[in-house]
Amino acid sequence: MINLSVLLEDSARKYPTKDAFVFMDTHVSFAQVNGAANQVANGLKAAGIQKGDRVALSCLNVPYFPMVYFGILKAGAIVVPMSVLLKREEIAYHLQDSGAKAYFCFEGTPELPMAREGYAGFEKTDACEQFYVITADPKAASSIEGTKTMGMLMANQSPVFENVVTSADDTAVIIYTSGTTGKPKGAELSHSNLVHNAILSVNILDLDPEDKQLIVLPLFHIFAMTVLMNAGLYRGSTSVLLPRFDAEQVLGLMEKHRISIFAGVPTMYWGLLNYENTKFDLKVIAESLKTCVSGGAALPVNVLENFEKKFNVPIYEGYGMSEGSPVVTFNQKAFGKKPGSVGTPVWGVEVKIVDADDNEVPVGEKGELVYRGHNVMKGYFNKPEANKKTLKNGWLHSGDVAIKDEDGFFFIVDRTKEMIIRKGLNVYPREIEEVMMQHDAVSMVAVIGVPNDEAGEEIKACVVLHKGHEIPEEDLKAWTKEHIAAYKYPRIIEYMDALPMSATGKILKKELR
Ligand code: ATP
Ligand code: MG
Repeated sequence: MINLSVLLEDSARKYPTKDAFVFMDTHVSFAQVNGAANQVANGLKAAGIQKGDRVALSCLNVPYFPMVYFGILKAGAIVVPMSVLLKREEIAYHLQDSGAKAYFCFEGTPELPMAREGYAGFEKTDACEQFYVITADPKAASSIEGTKTMGMLMANQSPVFENVVTSADDTAVIIYTSGTTGKPKGAELSHSNLVHNAILSVNILDLDPEDKQLIVLPLFHIFAMTVLMNAGLYRGSTSVLLPRFDAEQVLGLMEKHRISIFAGVPTMYWGLLNYENTKFDLKVIAESLKTCVSGGAALPVNVLENFEKKFNVPIYEGYGMSEGSPVVTFNQKAFGKKPGSVGTPVWGVEVKIVDADDNEVPVGEKGELVYRGHNVMKGYFNKPEANKKTLKNGWLHSGDVAIKDEDGFFFIVDRTKEMIIRKGLNVYPREIEEVMMQHDAVSMVAVIGVPNDEAGEEIKACVVLHKGHEIPEEDLKAWTKEHIAAYKYPRIIEYMDALPMSATGKILKKELR
């Protein structure tokens, strides 16, 4: 018997009155989160939710998220976290695909009316019987007619609950991939997957009970869920929650709470670096920060180096994915770090680089990154075809092209799907992006392939310039050509005010195309 909620329960005993979460002026202790989760579990049980049932959760970074998350787990059911930015059809897809029986939706979610519509569309076709609105005020009535609230579910329920028996291999969470390259797929993660990953994340962050981590990455995504929320609960450190990334608010909270741990995707580091600060004491912020980690997409080396200099804190970059719970490799304090690298395999995980026939390639050569260990998902939920391609002999095939160096450090070249084939030659966008980011005028860049009669695919760079900078396209092309092989420089450049971004802060290249 093991249940992921052990991470919370143990700390609720050790540190009952200590702050587990801080959101604006609300402080919630470990025991309070646990008590509320028990009430949710009692409520769900009374409402007929049973072991193995899927329960969807769409919630911003507020303390209700962990209360519902662990309530579902304690009841033996499976959490299906959903992005708060999904639209009607996408909501219906997630509910349908996961076969959710109940759906919790935070009223502060911008798409709540749409969620209700998505649910209604779904309701006609299947068995999502229960819809709970999570109201900011637990005593408030539901803003949507005919629905119950989380408060109503918890009312009169005991804050004590005896967990439904689950085993290590039972599914705890079905997490949908970010949908960066296509339709999101539901990765089935077991209690064992998630417990192991949370515990090893403590080492990666060098987390102590005295630490305060800022969670601005969305909790519905695997990165924040495991590396920040679950690791923090296990270690007994305090999570300060912020629902949406805004450089000014992040720096304000860092200063106010003396934040020691920060995790972000590269666009967040970029945003913090480019924020023109006149309000906050950078010295206080830098003195408090102990560890920063980056993942989810490639961190451009010049963003890493400039951030480290400005904030006087190391950024440890790691590599992970929904399918890997998520952590696969990390730059770890114990092994040292290399800029541009995603580090070495984490404890209990084996990683290798293979060719198309699944043979390991020599050091320094490109191939697909595959891994196996306690972090590998059980499979995509109800997707036997995708599982056959992704899981072979226990090795998870990542779809990412990577290189291992002579010290055993891994470097992500790019996603296989992003590779451009120009006149029969393979070109990886990330390499071009790294070069162009070094130009003084260039703030951010995304390189894509666009269909072209002559070349098959042509290289296009979508460029955001630094404020107040201008450079003719031809000059930027010429400059890039001086720094990269002639077949790789972008033939097309388009200047943009901003790049399209996913809810998790990833650049959406499929939209640029
Ligand atoms: P989908 O699978 O639906 O297209 P996604 O792959 O973006 O979406 P996630 O599971 O959130 O969904 O992201 C995992 C992917 O993110 C990895 O496969 C890899 O391509 C990319 N990634 C993660 N960390 C890094 C990193 N440090 N450097 C480069 N790429 C990274
Ligand atoms: Mg993916």
